[in-house]
Amino acid sequence: MKKFDLQAKNVKNCKIFKKRCENNTLFNEKSDTLLLTKFRNGDKMRDIIGCISSIETMGTVDGPGVRYVLFMQGCNLRCKYCHNPETWAKDSKCLKSTPGTMVRKILRYKSYMGKDGGITISGGEPLLQPEFVTALLKLCKFHGLHTAIDTAGVGEEHIGDILNYTDLVILDIKATNEVNYRKITGFSMDKFNSFLKILDTKPCKVWLRQVIVPGINDTEENILSLKEFAKNIKNVEKIELLPYKTLGISKYEKLGIPYQLKDVPEMDEEKLEKLQKLLKK
Ligand code: SF4
Repeated sequence: MKKFDLQAKNVKNCKIFKKRCENNTLFNEKSDTLLLTKFRNGDKMRDIIGCISSIETMGTVDGPGVRYVLFMQGCNLRCKYCHNPETWAKDSKCLKSTPGTMVRKILRYKSYMGKDGGITISGGEPLLQPEFVTALLKLCKFHGLHTAIDTAGVGEEHIGDILNYTDLVILDIKATNEVNYRKITGFSMDKFNSFLKILDTKPCKVWLRQVIVPGINDTEENILSLKEFAKNIKNVEKIELLPYKTLGISKYEKLGIPYQLKDVPEMDEEKLEKLQKLLKK
């Protein structure tokens, strides 16, 4: 691959640069030096492929303001109440994209995002595709977008790189102790605890979320334990309790996966409100 003329006084005169600009997102920046640096990164980024389960262009529940939401394919947990089982399999059919192509799509919606909105990378589990997610968040920050990830905090490696370009972490707290965590997700809490240690070293803002399921974690004891748990996490702006819904059941039937909470009713909204109040006391 040909190298750019890094000594060129004006990068816009570089023929190779001009040609590659046609296929790259980084063609609008003011600083020539920055352009060159980012452009070379852009070359690298074109080799990174992300696997995306679905996209929501005008989301309003996954972070502040209006958001472009990417649901990444792949998750290692098996939460009993998961309403996105189609995102579990890493090798499932998905939309494949490079960070450059994706940021171009996202930028088309920038004017709808206003000053509060931005991009949220959700899942599945966004931490399982660290190269793609880091590169995409980096590009989004470069273009002045607010960035968030919605995660269960269970990844493999390079998690810290992702957090370097993340303004807000929406963290799903499955449970606050090993026994309940295993009961709900089927796995140990070790990876989640490692994530918390890394998060503690970063300045990201944090929203905590927990799905409340009747008969599983809808007790005062659980909410008070969540409140205590939150005290050990830096920069927590709010804690939200989400009601368990049965919306996802039909997806399980379609995928031929047994649904473990068949007999569990949806969470009562009034009770949930009462539990939410406990967090404020
Ligand atoms: S972490 Fe999220 S996507 Fe993964 S199983 Fe749990 S609820 Fe589903």
